Amino acid sequence: MKDQQLRALENEISDFVVKHTGKNPVPGEGSASAPVFLIGEAAGANEERTGRPFVGRAGRLLTELIENRLHLKREQVYITSVVKWRPPDNRKPLKNEVEACMPFLDRQLDLVKPKIIVLLGNTALNSVLDHDMRIGSVHGKVIEKDGRRYFPTYHPAAGLRATRWKKALEQDFAQLALELSK
Ligand code: URA
Repeated sequence: MKDQQLRALENEISDFVVKHTGKNPVPGEGSASAPVFLIGEAAGANEERTGRPFVGRAGRLLTELIENRLHLKREQVYITSVVKWRPPDNRKPLKNEVEACMPFLDRQLDLVKPKIIVLLGNTALNSVLDHDMRIGSVHGKVIEKDGRRYFPTYHPAAGLRATRWKKALEQDFAQLALELSK
């Protein structure tokens, strides 16, 4: 039932994206009973081509973190991004793009009701939680707000750019595993 509702919402998101942007939609994918719900920034080139979130190099690192640190399969979690299409030239999403997509994200979260919501990078953190927070100062800690539990960490693309961010991601995902086992 919940699964059907989530698939229907993904279809609704896809229709909206096609109608309003003419672009290939990337609504999100995964389990309707996921304990962990991961949110990135926006689709990139590989995601736009396949219609699936996090399938490029950053996606490979994210999948490794999910499998090796959380001991979950990718299909057991839910993965999406704030913006459900690829902004031109991979630029940061604009305010109006974020605003157009936030009600969909909220409905995805309401359906899945995960134990923890992982905010991957500053765009997710600033769009979902607080405009003034920075990942560097709040990563690896649970933040509770309005009955939801959030866990900010670095975007996996940052982990590909610098070893210190990859290490921080690995440590944060180990901490996330502890939070999930509580
Ligand atoms: N980066 C994101 O934020 N989301 C994706 O789906 C892929 C890369």
